[in-house]
Amino acid sequence: MTNRYVFSFAEGDGHDKKLLGGKGANLCEMTQIGLNVPPGFVITTEACLAYLDRDELPDGLWDAVTEEIGRLEQANGKTFGSGPDPLLVSVRSGSAMSMPGMMDTILNLGLNEASLASLIEQTGDARFAYDAYRRFIQLFGKVALGIADEKFDEHFQAIKEQAGVAADVHLTADHLKEISGKFLEVVQAETGRDFPQDVYLQLRLAVEAVFRSWMGKRAVDYRREFHITSDMANGTAVNICTMVFGNKGDDCATGVGFTRNPGTGDKEMFGEYLTNAQGEDVVAGIRTPKPLQEMEREMPGLYRQLVELRNKLESHYEEVQDYEFTIENGTLFCLQTRNGKMNAAAMVKTSVDMYAEGLITRDKAMLRIDPELLEQLLHPRLDPDTDARPVATGLPASPGAASGRCVFDADLAEKIGHDGEHVILVREETRPEDIHGFFASEGILTSRGGKTSHAAVVARGMGKPCVAGAEGIVVDIALRRAIVGEHIIHEGDVITLDGATGEVYLGAIPTLPPHFSDNLKKLLGWADETADIKVMANADTPEAASRARDYGAMGIGLCRTERMFNANDRLPIVIDMILANTQEDRQEALDLLLPIQRADFIKLFTVMSPDPVTVRLLDPPMHEFLPTQHDLLDQIKTLRIYRDVVRGRQTALASISDAPALPDAFAELSEEHVNDALLKKERMLKKVLELQETNPMLGHRGVRLGITYPEIYAMQIRAILEAAAECARNGIDAQPEIMVPQVITSQELGHVRQTVDMLTAELEQESGVELHFKFGTMIETVRACTRAARLAGSADFFSFGTNDLTQAVFSFSREDAENKFLPMYNDSGILQDNPFEVLDVFGVGRLMQMAVTEGREQRQDLKIGICGEQGGHPRSIRFCHHIGLNYVSCSGPRVPIARLAAANAKLLEKEFH
Ligand code: PEP
Ligand code: MG
Repeated sequence: MTNRYVFSFAEGDGHDKKLLGGKGANLCEMTQIGLNVPPGFVITTEACLAYLDRDELPDGLWDAVTEEIGRLEQANGKTFGSGPDPLLVSVRSGSAMSMPGMMDTILNLGLNEASLASLIEQTGDARFAYDAYRRFIQLFGKVALGIADEKFDEHFQAIKEQAGVAADVHLTADHLKEISGKFLEVVQAETGRDFPQDVYLQLRLAVEAVFRSWMGKRAVDYRREFHITSDMANGTAVNICTMVFGNKGDDCATGVGFTRNPGTGDKEMFGEYLTNAQGEDVVAGIRTPKPLQEMEREMPGLYRQLVELRNKLESHYEEVQDYEFTIENGTLFCLQTRNGKMNAAAMVKTSVDMYAEGLITRDKAMLRIDPELLEQLLHPRLDPDTDARPVATGLPASPGAASGRCVFDADLAEKIGHDGEHVILVREETRPEDIHGFFASEGILTSRGGKTSHAAVVARGMGKPCVAGAEGIVVDIALRRAIVGEHIIHEGDVITLDGATGEVYLGAIPTLPPHFSDNLKKLLGWADETADIKVMANADTPEAASRARDYGAMGIGLCRTERMFNANDRLPIVIDMILANTQEDRQEALDLLLPIQRADFIKLFTVMSPDPVTVRLLDPPMHEFLPTQHDLLDQIKTLRIYRDVVRGRQTALASISDAPALPDAFAELSEEHVNDALLKKERMLKKVLELQETNPMLGHRGVRLGITYPEIYAMQIRAILEAAAECARNGIDAQPEIMVPQVITSQELGHVRQTVDMLTAELEQESGVELHFKFGTMIETVRACTRAARLAGSADFFSFGTNDLTQAVFSFSREDAENKFLPMYNDSGILQDNPFEVLDVFGVGRLMQMAVTEGREQRQDLKIGICGEQGGHPRSIRFCHHIGLNYVSCSGPRVPIARLAAANAKLLEKEFH
């Protein structure tokens, strides 16, 4: 049996987005719930895949399409390709995942010389008919025949100028007829063939072009950027829908709307429309549209119908909808709906509001938000105290603030942006082919188009600031400059955008960090109540800990103590500790470090009380605290030259009997001083050479260091325990957890544990305070995973160090891979993700799962977490929840994302595969 490739809107299953695409499924659904959708049908994504596979339409498809066209003719009482009432259709792409503007659309298909004549006769409106014709020729020429827009645009512009007309609506029927004629000539000149008059050939070429657009560069880039895998969307459906016209006169209009304001989340009519226009005019930003509110005055009856449509859409889909409508001679049609893409603040607000309105459940309120989206709320705002004055104001199309160098085309933006420069893409209006420029830019500025223009929609989806329709700016691409009043902005000049107000500034304006809204606090509160997994922070200083607290961290899952050594007052002591040749000398340095560490721990425990603070004993190889061999050799060379200079000066002075007295500072600079410095550097160099290893990350670090220099770990353990005792004396509930890095065997843990036990006994006796703490291990070597049962016998907790574990499992250097071959591996699809960012559940994850199972078999109440970078990544958190971890730990600013991800992981557990 052959597959069924075609479904009418009245038949298709509105839930089967994979087969019918999002747009197609919604058209079916809307038709079936009684909304006024023009009749049409969907060609399935399976048909697209079959076409792409064999480079020809699959068997049976074309017969089914012609049959459906026959039904459309009947339903509408029209005929395809001829009079007296010609059927025209739109042909639109639509995959399972929304990819705004990424694939192609053709309108008015079915026009040829015969149907054009009938349309003129039938409507008595030659202007309308020629307008439809010229639009069709251009769109069809571009999409199906591959002719660049500019080839058409130049004729259009020339005739407009000749006619002395500013707006398209003022072109007459004769002008549009002339334009259509020119366009037909363009097609003939560019393809060597006449524009196809056979409407079935038009349809077939259009369907094939839409199928092919699935593999077009734009669509492929978009899918890669947004990680849309073939599991999520495979192939595009094609929607063929009876045309309705918003450009047949003043009782016609076309518009787009959101059921709530996508910038703020407010429940209000939001959108834009144009009277006497066709859909593409609104989206492309060619004419600046009017806000929907104006329709209430202009077309009150239809406005009421639109409000009703809005309400129906939202209550049916239980989600904010982004819809398109057309009014044809006073009748309102809904042409499309999809879930609205909003910025994070609006997503959070609508979640909280829709739950309060009883429209959605609390679970849905959380699940509808992709946790990564919250990242936007951590974006900066312009400092409100700035006295800088904007030079232009446009529409606040996507919030956030950004500064960068102006760049006037997407290719250059991509190039410069990828070189690490901050870039603002400045265009008259943007088009889908500019998408790569968006990815590389900090913000987008356009001089034309509304809040639903391409630039606005795409920037909002990406969470990048956008100012649209800043009409005070004249962009001159040819001269690579923009004129704003008396200012000229050249390419490369720095400007700042405020996407929340629509203001544009010259130069870089200071920004402020964002703040948590009450709505976000409420949502994350629900998340905490829902989740099983706790979210901790990786924080090394009391300041970072207190910031992490503000983000809602439930403790510290990793304090890297080596980071505490880097402050100016500590590093010299640490260096003395490393350079020490005897245990006594080393102890002397450690005695100086002890009070510093203890004071830090007291602060950390206090900030986090009564939540746990996991302190990891020293991990990195010692050489990391010393200058490099290269630097030292340089310094030694300079000092030797300097010694010669000092020596020479002394000899010279001695030979002059009445030499003048030198200023003090110079007099003090003796050869002895220089020699001292030289000796120190030479000693350090010797140590550096001694410590040198070929693979330091696999070398003398972590617990290996702790075992060979037991006094270092002893000092740290003492500092932790003394801090705990001090907190206890001050009535602070401290929950320290001592964590040992790089462990491979329980013998190592036993070694460190002995020191812990000895010091605990000593301090308890000394202080009279009973000390409470946990003792545990990182699991970051492959052997630790395989010996988890044994390790669990000596540990209260495990923490997966998935940075090192990933390095070990892949045999990829974590220092180098991301700058060398990993991007290519990701681009070519050899690896879907960067494993240092997203947990590799199949390799690293499998080892983790084994360690969890075997660890808990040994010790049921074993607490287990993760503190590698992947611990803040939503997909990784889902896996961590699935294998039963108790907590994840990540950098402070990712904590809110992880909190929501932890709740969503729990809610989605049943669907985990
Ligand atoms: C890890 O290896 O995952 C870890 C958290 O430790 P570090 O990154 O400090 O090696
Ligand atoms: Mg590690």
